[in-house]
Amino acid sequence: MKAHDGMYIDGAWRPAAGTDTIAVVNPADEQVIAHVPAGTADDVDAAVRAARRALPAWAATPPAERAARIAAIRDALVARKDEIAGTVTAELGSPLKLSQAVHVGLPIAVAGSYAELAASYAFEEKAGNSTVHLEPVGVVGAITPWNYPLHQIVAKVAPALAAGCTIVLKPAEDTPLTAQLFAEAVHEAGLPAGVFNLVTGLGPVAGQALAEHEGVDLVSFTGSTAVGRQIGATAGAAVKRVALELGGKSANVILPSADLAKAVNVGVANVMSNSGQTCSAWTRMLVHDSQYEEAVALAVEAAAKYGERIGPVVNAKQQRRVRGYIEKGVAEGARLVAGGPEAPRDQGYFVSPTVFADVTPEMTIAQEEIFGPVLSILRYEDEADALRIANGTVYGLAGAVWAGEETEAVAFARQLDTGQVDINGGRFNPLAPFGGYKQSGVGRELGSHGLSEYLQTKSLQF
Ligand code: NAP
Ligand code: MG
Repeated sequence: MKAHDGMYIDGAWRPAAGTDTIAVVNPADEQVIAHVPAGTADDVDAAVRAARRALPAWAATPPAERAARIAAIRDALVARKDEIAGTVTAELGSPLKLSQAVHVGLPIAVAGSYAELAASYAFEEKAGNSTVHLEPVGVVGAITPWNYPLHQIVAKVAPALAAGCTIVLKPAEDTPLTAQLFAEAVHEAGLPAGVFNLVTGLGPVAGQALAEHEGVDLVSFTGSTAVGRQIGATAGAAVKRVALELGGKSANVILPSADLAKAVNVGVANVMSNSGQTCSAWTRMLVHDSQYEEAVALAVEAAAKYGERIGPVVNAKQQRRVRGYIEKGVAEGARLVAGGPEAPRDQGYFVSPTVFADVTPEMTIAQEEIFGPVLSILRYEDEADALRIANGTVYGLAGAVWAGEETEAVAFARQLDTGQVDINGGRFNPLAPFGGYKQSGVGRELGSHGLSEYLQTKSLQF
């Protein structure tokens, strides 16, 4: 794999301040495929200064011109789509087809949506005798995870650019090569120097320096709740804007009137896709008592199809963590009906597609985010019971409801404490606001709601 040995700061690849590097590992075969520089507070400082210098001119650039630059980024991503898909597969381990369709296809769609939104958004409103101007928040510090390496970057950078903000990105240490390709696309798209800057590095070093930097006006973070809590506290102390996209433990509620086979099959696919490393995955399947064993049998059948096709999880630590959760499920008395804690292959960080039945709501595997290919099937007695179980975690990111009639599913969905619900398998919509209730986060990404996160209001009275 080709890797830059510098940082993309102020419109060029520049040598890192220090000499430490990060080894990038292919999780499918455990081979080191590249090294990238491990950024320090000095690199972050140089990047934030560049972003501050670039801010006034970019904020004053007409929205139509900002839209044209975002469209050019999208076109540069399209031109490099095979290279990006291959890179995501090499550093994340996802099967190539998934990399092409989702890891590259989705961010291209999101970039396109912001090229359109930047051009059409109303950056000025009337309210009585006031004109309200929606102005960019300023310099954005973006910290992203590895699970959807390019999507997580584009979901922050595209709306920030549309709003007129400038950006410093610290991507996940496990997937920096995709981030470097994104920086190349930005460069090709002809953005003014300093508008977008990339600092690769470790979370507690480069990430923390970025979150704490006084030149950053808004920190946008996606990742674990533990780190999110810390970033929220740091931002709070500095009275700085913050957006947190954290974990989930979403419920897939199958009401008795639903097409059971379809709901179970789509539900299993949703959890196993990307090796279970999706924050919005429906990791808890809720089935009525009368259909329970039928649903378990269908889920076992569906999970078996993923045995050969599933990719590894991202690294050895995640593999240990996920296997630890599977052992915990067994220890707490859940019934293992597919997969298990044993590593299915000698090499690579693989985890068997795993299904647990007889999971009760208070079990660890029904409460904590596992971030691996592990499905828990829970039993409910009636609708009130299903609702209580579905809402009974600290999270509220996503979910699904299945019923014979859409109106029945909608009535149930409206009672869920969660930010997104797919009705009878409704398709993912890159324009719909994405984000969490409760401890799943603060703020929204995607669509016009995602854009407004990067704006602040100025009211002029006449
Ligand atoms: P993480 O540590 O929260 O990583 C997210 C990002 O934050 C990475 O860029 C990370 O850098 C950075 N970071 C880490 N510590 C930081 C700090 N003290 N200050 C500033 N930035 C910091 O997540 P992880 O360790 O990769 O994954 C652990 C768990 O997080 C997963 O098992 C999963 O439950 C959850 N997760 C959730 C999502 C989501 O989309 N909601 C995505 C990924 C993970 P490094 O890459 O160097 O750590
Ligand atoms: Mg980490």
